Amino acid sequence: MPGPYVAPVVGDETLPKHVDVVVVGGGIVGASTALELAERGHSVALCEKGGIACEQSSRNWGWVRLSRRDIREMPLMLEARKIWSGLAERTGRDVGYRRTGIVFTADSENAHAQNTRYRDQLQDFQVSSDLLSAKDVKEKFPDLDLPLHGALLTADDGRAEPQLAGTAIATAARDRGANILVQCAVRGLELVGGRVSGVVTERGTIACNAVVLAGGVWSNFFARRYGIDIPQLNVTASVLRTDPLEGGPEEAIWCKDFALRKRLDGGYTIANGHENFVDIVPRSFKYVFRYLPALRSDWASLNFRASGQFFKDVFDAKLRPLDEASAFEYTRVLDPVPSKRLTDGALAALAKRWPVFRQATIAQRWGGCIDVTPDAIPVIDQASKVPGFFVATGFSGHGFGIAPAAGRLMADLVTGKAPVVDPAPFRLSRFSDGTKIVLSPEHA
Ligand SMILES: Cc1cc2nc3c(=O)[nH]c(=O)nc-3n(C[C@H](O)[C@H](O)[C@H](O)COP(=O)(O)OP(=O)(O)OC[C@H]3O[C@@H](n4cnc5c(N)ncnc54)[C@H](O)[C@@H]3O)c2cc1C
Repeated sequence: MPGPYVAPVVGDETLPKHVDVVVVGGGIVGASTALELAERGHSVALCEKGGIACEQSSRNWGWVRLSRRDIREMPLMLEARKIWSGLAERTGRDVGYRRTGIVFTADSENAHAQNTRYRDQLQDFQVSSDLLSAKDVKEKFPDLDLPLHGALLTADDGRAEPQLAGTAIATAARDRGANILVQCAVRGLELVGGRVSGVVTERGTIACNAVVLAGGVWSNFFARRYGIDIPQLNVTASVLRTDPLEGGPEEAIWCKDFALRKRLDGGYTIANGHENFVDIVPRSFKYVFRYLPALRSDWASLNFRASGQFFKDVFDAKLRPLDEASAFEYTRVLDPVPSKRLTDGALAALAKRWPVFRQATIAQRWGGCIDVTPDAIPVIDQASKVPGFFVATGFSGHGFGIAPAAGRLMADLVTGKAPVVDPAPFRLSRFSDGTKIVLSPEHA
């Protein structure tokens, strides 16, 4: 089974001839956009090349957090937190959202100082968060045997279930009239006078007034056909889940060697807290200078490797005529191989520090490809080169929690409504207009 199980959303049999908006990509960002638009009375088609939420959106850790977030994302994330609170009622389905708190441990003075800065940032946004001393951590988690300088506990942070949320949102969009099309890759745009007039899918064309690209790691390939450069590189993360386990924490906990989150099924989703893999691909050379700040700060946690992905990238990037099968059809669900060293190493490190996890049994391991931008915040914008073409992508490893609000902001931009937050930090032009690319202090 590729990735965590996601109950399939059965797609519509017929393609609509015309809708107001086509959303390309049925991850949680595309689904949230479709739901917003449908609720506002617009006709929508959500087109997904594989299954709803089968890529990043079901493979992530399931953390929904304001803590340790880039300040540029804070207003949008505050909106997201509000939406998550009502999402079960709004969708009529349990999305697994629980405010159980998130703990970021600090193993050095420097890490503790960073946590202090993030605590102050949260306070600036009226979110309460506690800076714990090593003694406080010991009192809270007596069985955790970890040498620490302290930790940041944000009780208002929480978790949701990636295997449920994306499909719940897409199904709710359908309940409000959206067309949901699965196994339906969008090959490209139809343009009239340079403006969007429709899309070409593998099942035929759909006329529309606007297109939202929410294609995750595929967005770069899709947009380049129109001369739109979305700088994105992929990082491959590895995750495991355990069978149900009694006696572990309700809070999600991060430390360097492991990160854990309790699941709705009683098991835990566990991963290495910082190490990932990066395949060297042709785009790596093109973008290397733009990613220098990220490379400098995250060098130690990124394992660069030469692999067959180099040639797959060449294949996927090739522009084919729109009446031929596209790369999007050749890879229905991107299913990278997880690193056993990272997953099993994370569980071993956790078991060493927390006895209850010695009984944990591994139920599944999976990989997930993350779409990272040079400044690690997303693009949520209209692509100025092609009127009617909008982009919501590059969520850089923390888009699950913020997605419901990203969908709201995208819907505002498409419909011309006053945006729910200032969209300026997310504009695509920041990568080409001379703006200095800066990372959040987390990377400093
Ligand atoms: C291991 C891992 C851990 C993470 N942990 C967290 C976390 O704890 N908290 C958090 O907030 N975020 C986390 N993230 C990040 C989060 O999962 C993503 O930011 C979020 O899911 C992005 O959603 P998306 O809809 O943009 O992309 P995706 O879920 O990748 O969806 C994009 C979809 O577009 C489809 N598509 C692409 N091109 C086409 C096309 N041409 N036609 C039709 N369909 C197309 C794809 O098939 C895909 O289903 C994590 C990610 C990973 C991989």
